[in-house]
Amino acid sequence: MTAPAAARVGGVRIVARLGLALVVVVVVWVVAVGAGPDDRDAGTSASGRGGDAAVAPVDEGPAAHAPAPTVAPSASTSAPGAARATDGPPSGAPSSDAVVVDLRMLDRWSAMGGDDGFLGAPEATAACTPSDVDATRCVQRFAGGTLVWTVDDGAHLAAADDASGPLVVVNKARPLHPRDYAPRVVEVSGGQSLSTAVAPAAKTLLAAARKADLPMTVRSGYRSYADQKDAYRKWSATLGDDEADRESARPGFSEHQTGLALDLLPADGPCDAFGCFAGTPEARWLAQNAYRYGFVVRYPKGAEATTGYVYEPWHLRYVGRDVAVTMRAQHATVLETFLGLPAAPDYP
Ligand SMILES: [Zn+2]
Repeated sequence: MTAPAAARVGGVRIVARLGLALVVVVVVWVVAVGAGPDDRDAGTSASGRGGDAAVAPVDEGPAAHAPAPTVAPSASTSAPGAARATDGPPSGAPSSDAVVVDLRMLDRWSAMGGDDGFLGAPEATAACTPSDVDATRCVQRFAGGTLVWTVDDGAHLAAADDASGPLVVVNKARPLHPRDYAPRVVEVSGGQSLSTAVAPAAKTLLAAARKADLPMTVRSGYRSYADQKDAYRKWSATLGDDEADRESARPGFSEHQTGLALDLLPADGPCDAFGCFAGTPEARWLAQNAYRYGFVVRYPKGAEATTGYVYEPWHLRYVGRDVAVTMRAQHATVLETFLGLPAAPDYP
């Protein structure tokens, strides 16, 4: 990241004129409330042996996971409702011409080097989702990553490497920082816990599934570093490191450790294992509806080269409703791709 300052004077001037302040931050990528990384479960590869195998997770509760926006705020922005997409046309016209930087982000983007900064040129106009409950959230994709920000109190961005942020991305190339990170968690169902920032959304999702006559149980939620360490060790002792890497995330590399991921299975019916979950009505329901509650199927089919994991229709990852809705609207199914992060097919 970088940040030179130079800037598209014109744009800056406009921003100032409008009194907008932006906030943004550093590493960029998303917003304010919570999300976590990835990992596959302790076990299991979808296709592979079945299941999140081994190890049942345990909950624990670590530290806080509050929405931790990494950033700072600044002024307020336009009227609440007004959070529309890229407003002004002329403003910070980036080199790409076709797409402009949202006015509310222009100042920041310019300060980060504009087209020459790590974010690069914008590739899509900003999409903003007004909310009755929260501040309006906006998302704009750039060549080097995606910015997500809230509008009402200025923009708040959380980094993809902020373990307590909603968009943290954990994969085989991106361990948690610190490796033994532990969010504050609370039980959601059946002894399984999730981050306190995510539990309400998970409960709402479970209730909706129940209402659709597709009750599901949480097979695995938060897993601590110690849990993952034990799980990996067992796999490794039995299969060797190479095979263990196919079945279980290494400790510090599991999305379950963020408290933002959970594995679901049908509460009724013939399928009660990950190996038979694909194609079930429950799996189809999750694929179609999880986004409404802020979740995405984190390891979609055919994305192993990017996510590092085979298809896991049961593994949901919370990214926040705004981001989930945006991904859905953009037909974006892979978090790494959506956020402009490199593929992580394997451990370095
Ligand atoms: Zn999982």
